[in-house]
Amino acid sequence: MISVDLYKNKNIAIVGYGKTGKSIVDALLNIQVKNIYILDDNVINNEFYTSINDVDWTNLDALIVSPGIHLWWGTNIAVKLARKYSIPVINDIDVFQQHINSKIVAITGTNGKSTTTALIYHILKFNEKSAEIGGNFGKPALSLNNNADFYILELSSYQLEACNILGFDISILLNITPDHISRHGGINGYISAKQKIFANAKNNSTAIIGVDDEYCRHILDFVNYPTVIQISGKKVPNNGVGWKDDKLIDNYFGKESIVCEKYNILDGDHNRQNIAAAYAASRVCNISKENFVEKLFSFKNLEHRQELVKIIKGVTYINDSKATNADSAEQALKRFNNIIWILGGRPKEEGIISLAPYFSKIKNALLIGEAAKNWHHLLESYNVKNEIVYNLEKAVNFAYDIAKNGDIVLLSPACASFDQFNSFEERGEKFKELVRKL
Ligand code: ADP
Repeated sequence: MISVDLYKNKNIAIVGYGKTGKSIVDALLNIQVKNIYILDDNVINNEFYTSINDVDWTNLDALIVSPGIHLWWGTNIAVKLARKYSIPVINDIDVFQQHINSKIVAITGTNGKSTTTALIYHILKFNEKSAEIGGNFGKPALSLNNNADFYILELSSYQLEACNILGFDISILLNITPDHISRHGGINGYISAKQKIFANAKNNSTAIIGVDDEYCRHILDFVNYPTVIQISGKKVPNNGVGWKDDKLIDNYFGKESIVCEKYNILDGDHNRQNIAAAYAASRVCNISKENFVEKLFSFKNLEHRQELVKIIKGVTYINDSKATNADSAEQALKRFNNIIWILGGRPKEEGIISLAPYFSKIKNALLIGEAAKNWHHLLESYNVKNEIVYNLEKAVNFAYDIAKNGDIVLLSPACASFDQFNSFEERGEKFKELVRKL
């Protein structure tokens, strides 16, 4: 756990007592903090729980918010009161940065954050660097071990929105497509949260930025970092790292030099973007080209991302439960053919119209969850064969009945899971369990 000494003898209130909130409380209890107030509308029987009226707002040193708390658009009373009493509103990433002098690599983007974070960690770790991985991935930042040389942090737009102290050693923005729009009050709010990863630079900070979408290309013009490396999954940027003829090309550390050939385990344009970012970050961390390539080949992709579950009678079952928006589902639709597509759940505002160019690859779409009825009408209007099957169990059984040799049964929902599951992991596990039982 990170030692958060600067908060010794301070009065701190925490909003939200979920995974992140608990990590903040644990870190504070580990030092002699004066008072901790825990505010969470859903926790009433906790021994530490405080009513908002019991907080001494005049003597509070900081209010630390969890990622789930709406800072600007919501009406969180604790945040409002803190502002009224001029109390700093910060988050766990701020606290982390206040206490860590080691190198921090921060990764954000609409899609590919976890894969890139895990890949960079894998490369550093297996090149004998002492590294810790966390943030929005696995353990919250404050639960990580002290004294690592590198901290590799995945950061969501929710976390970035609430950060005040920024200025990482390596800041990575992979891509931006519309997602979580309502939470950020519109696409501009979402972009400015993501853009905050470049808000401040240290003397030797490096910005790594994807240039495959308009939003990121626009942000690039405003990045004021000593070192800026462009990355792409589709081309070789002038001053960066990218792909040409199925080869990863380094045009930053070397002049158009080939790093490696097409990489099969992490195939697809989207992963090419992730690999380019990981390569740039690794080189900045003094990993040689050869050592990067060697470790890249031993990296196993994360679960629930285009994960091969089983091949039954020539039918391939793929679990892409982590595809919670249209852009991530697009990567799977792009990659496969003859698809029996299981989709639906709690829909995102942008829907799935952007996926229409791939509808001709769909043999049958099986609709589950809250999105089912609306999307049924949409798919009908595009003449895509589809059935409303309501839940995953029916979807898998239906798919099994209709699938023919060579087909792909793909769970790539383009939706959040929360209408029927607690998380995308639970949804993916359920899918795998059902497939294994077939
Ligand atoms: P995140 O942590 O940002 O949600 P993940 O690495 O967990 O990203 O991948 C989530 C989904 O997005 C998966 O379906 C995956 O196939 C897809 N994906 C991964 N990398 C990218 C990328 N660079 N661009 C678009 N989609 C991606």
